[in-house]
Order: sequence, then C-alpha cells, then structure tokens
Amino acid sequence: MTQKIITRFAPSPTGYVHIGSLRTVLYNYLFAKKNDGKFMLRVEDTDQSRYVEGSIENMLFVLASVWLIPDEWPNNPWEKWPYFQSQRLEIYQKYIAELIKNDKAYYCFCSSERLDELRNEQQELNLPTKYDQRCRYLTKEEIAQKLEAKLPYTIRLKVPKNEVIVFDDMIRGKIEIHTKDIDDQVLMKSDGFPTYHFANVVDDYLMEVTHVIRGEEWVPSTPKHILIYNAFWWTPPLFAHLPLLLGKDKKKLSKRTWDVSVESYLEKWYIVEALINYIALLGWNPKTTEEFFTIDELITRFDIVNVHKAWAVFDTERLDWFSGKYIASMDNEELFSKLLKYLNKYDESFYEKITQNEEYAKKILTELKGRMRRFDEFKEFSKFFYEEPNVRQDLLINEKMKIENFDIVKKWLQLARDILGAKDKKLTSPEEIKNTFIEAIQESWMKNGQVLWPLRVALSWEEFSPWALELIYLLGKEKSIQRIEKILNTLQ
Ligand code: GLU
Repeated sequence: MTQKIITRFAPSPTGYVHIGSLRTVLYNYLFAKKNDGKFMLRVEDTDQSRYVEGSIENMLFVLASVWLIPDEWPNNPWEKWPYFQSQRLEIYQKYIAELIKNDKAYYCFCSSERLDELRNEQQELNLPTKYDQRCRYLTKEEIAQKLEAKLPYTIRLKVPKNEVIVFDDMIRGKIEIHTKDIDDQVLMKSDGFPTYHFANVVDDYLMEVTHVIRGEEWVPSTPKHILIYNAFWWTPPLFAHLPLLLGKDKKKLSKRTWDVSVESYLEKWYIVEALINYIALLGWNPKTTEEFFTIDELITRFDIVNVHKAWAVFDTERLDWFSGKYIASMDNEELFSKLLKYLNKYDESFYEKITQNEEYAKKILTELKGRMRRFDEFKEFSKFFYEEPNVRQDLLINEKMKIENFDIVKKWLQLARDILGAKDKKLTSPEEIKNTFIEAIQESWMKNGQVLWPLRVALSWEEFSPWALELIYLLGKEKSIQRIEKILNTLQ
C-alpha cells in the first residue's frame, strides 16, 4: 500500500496571516487533495516571547473564511492529539533524552554572556558566527557535576564532522551543504522549551507528514532539520520551497509598503473565489492560457513541479481585475445578497438606505457590476443614486467639447428636459432612452457629447460618473427632470 500523502501548515502565532502564508496554505491544501491525502494545521507556539494575543483565533477565522479547512486542526472536535506545540512539551523531553542517550546531542552550560562575547569576537574578525563547541567535549564527570550544581543548560545537536547533506527539493532541485558550515544548533532551551527546529522535526515525524511545502526563507533551515532526522534514523519528508512573493516594487512584501494581511482583503470584500484563484497563480504555472479556475479545477490541475523557482509578484491591480471578472459573471441575485451581507456588516446606515428600496438597489447593482471589483466600491459608484448632488457649475464648461458658455449649456439642458418630459415616451428601458436621445440630438444638429456632457454633470455633479443615459435609466424620468431643473434654476 502506498503511503498516504500528508501535508501541513505550521504557523507561529505571531500576528496576522500574511498573504504569502495564504499561498503556502493553498498549495499544501491543493497538493494533499489532489493526491487523496490529508492537510493539517499545527500551531508552533513554543516561542512564548513572540506570541501575539488573538493571532490563533484570527488564523482559524481566515482559513474558514477562504474555505481552506484542514482535515485536522485545533477546531476539529475529534482531536487526535494536541495541535499546539506548547501542549506537547513532554513529547519533546522524551525525544531529547533519546538523543542525549545515543550521544547525538549534548548539554551546553555556556552562559549567554559568553555566547555574546564569542559572537562579537567572530563578527569583529569577519568570521561566520557559530558556537565554538566548548561543551561538546565535556567529560561525563564534568557534566554530572554541573547538573548537580544546577547550572542552567541548553541541549545542542552534535553535528557530524565532515559530511555533506544533500536533499532534492521538489522545486529547486538538488541542494548540498557541508556540515562544517552548520552550527551545533540548540534543540532545547534552558527554560525546557524546544527550539523551532527540534519541535518542527519531531512533530512532522510523529504526524507522519510526507511533504513539507513552505516558503523559500526556510531553505537554510532544511539541512539542520535533515541532521535531526538523521540523528534519530528517521526518513525525512520531501521538501518543496516556494518562491518569494514580492511587491510591485520588486521588494519583499512588507507591512510598511503593502497591505499584506489576508484579513485586509477579506475586509474589502474581495470575492473569495477570485482571491484564491489569483493567489494560486502566484508561482504556479498551470501550463495553459486559461486563467480562471474553481477550487476543484485547481485541485485537479495543481502540480508542485510546475511551481517555479523565480519570485512572484503580488499585484493588487491584477487581483482587482480578477475579482472584477468574478463579480461581472456572478448571478444578480447572488451578488445582491452578498452585497447586503457585506453592507450589513460594514456599513449599517448605508445598508438601511439600500434595503428601503431593494428593487432600485438591485437595478443599480446590475448596471454597475461590470465596473465593480470589490463590494466596498459599490457605495462610491452608486452615490449619484442615493445622494442629492451639490451644484457645481464649474464642471459644465468644457472647452474640449466646445461648451464655452452657460447659454449653450442652458439650451442643451432644456432640450434634454423636454425629451424626458415628452408624454409619449415611457423611457424605462436603456434601449428606448438611448434611441430617443440619439435621434433628438441628431435632429438638432448637435454632437452627442455636447448634449450628454452637461446632462451627465447635471445628473451627477461629478467629474467621473456613469454615462448620462445610464444615469437616466437608473434614476428614472422624474428624478432626472428634477435634477436638470435644479441646475437650470441656478443658471437663470
Ligand atoms: N513555524 C514556522 C513558521 O512560522 C513553520 C515553518 C515550516 O513550515 O516549517 O512559518
């Protein structure tokens, strides 16, 4: 029987979920699902000094919001074992004792002052900073004495001399490193907590993880991990290190310059399917010109060997574009109900306004959906329909369109008002509005833009707004006439 594929996401609870972590989660998820395997979440919380309150809750919330639910995770009512490393300390104690017994690890009694001094000296001489292995050669008696005297200690790995560690990264190919370049790393700290490296390896082994898929920044740690596997005579999992995500400025995506928390994208109410679709393409080449994939299609097509080594650029404009395409293709009713949920959560007063006349709002949304990329844009794009505009005469004059004085403006607005007021026309469909106006403009020997510009300004009082005839359709005949009258009055 072939071994079941098991992948994992192993975050440390040190703050918000970074957009790069979302990609790590997604690739682990896709790889596991594609291979009928299992995807699990383990919380690496042994470094208590870096713990940020609320980050675990936030992470579980984010994963649930994007529907990437692990098969095993702390929320699972059938918990198999603790998924928090801080609750697994006894396990690490047991395994560290085994390494000491087998002479694969040793007690280090060096004080932090001595280690600092050593580091400073090495830095001054431009040497790599490494532990000088002073405690590696203590005799049994010396160790017993120091333990007896209750001196604080850490436990370090006895890195073998003169070996070359080789591993075959599924994305990067063969990576080699000589053990002379690897430090006798600390496995257990003096407070009895394991280091990241040690706990990570023990847990990946016990949880039977077969594929470790994580960010490129962990490449230098991997030889250290392999040495720990070797010390136990365990077979290491396979490794795949994902390319860095950069911002559009080609610099590392950092909080200072970019919105990097997944939550900030959820708050702008991007369509989750679009966000996932976009993130999937950051580093993975689907080997087709198609760009739109549902999660099931991603599962079928995903192949880790088609993830490239070169960094990928996270571009919010591209994300906007994806999200816009998803919105435009969405069913009107579904879109409207999503919009209501969004407004109910983030903008209660606007929600109330909208729900006073749902038909009107639906009509506006249907018209705007080809232009919207996120739900938070709806309010801005639809403001002409919900607020009475402020008069701005300056916008009426437009030299480019040869609208040079108010007399001309007046004439054309009167024409528009008369068209709208004609009793024989209902003017309720976009086609009817368009045909009627175009015909009337032609009859009066004017250019479309010359009539439609002041008309658009009269209806919206904004420099940028939907097209004049679209405004008429959405506002309706009466409201449109009222707005035109209002400006005509100011021009008397
Ligand atoms: N706890 C590490 C992190 O915060 C996990 C790295 C790994 O996947 O091994 O990213």
